[in-house]
Amino acid sequence: MKCLFCEIAEKKLPARILFEDVHAIAFEDVYPQAPVHVLVVPKKHISTSLEINPDDNWLVGHLFQIANTVAGQKGIAERGFRLVMNTNPESGQTVFHIHLHMLGGRVMHWPPG
Ligand code: 5GP
Ligand code: ZN
Repeated sequence: MKCLFCEIAEKKLPARILFEDVHAIAFEDVYPQAPVHVLVVPKKHISTSLEINPDDNWLVGHLFQIANTVAGQKGIAERGFRLVMNTNPESGQTVFHIHLHMLGGRVMHWPPG
């Protein structure tokens, strides 16, 4: 079965790409929930955070560093932003290829919905 984020990473589907390197890609969420809503996605297919292996630990850290870079590019690093990774249906995960949501540009509320 085709994976949406593998297809975006392989450039088989379009996206508004903000950052890319050998290991990961960051692009605008197509249904933004905040003025800034970026998805940071490893090129390696990992279906949920439950499938992250110890060998992937560096890659997960890399996603956070990319989110920091993009937050800086967007000018929201000092104001603040929220990083979220949903896992499995009750969290709201709909795309089963791990991704870090980077949300900002407005005040975030807590607890989340
Ligand atoms: P999840 O619900 O799995 O945590 O997050 C999936 C995210 O992917 C959602 O925020 C949704 O808006 C976004 N999304 C779904 N389809 C596409 C698409 O085709 N392109 C982009 N850029 N984002 C998508
Ligand atoms: Zn995938």
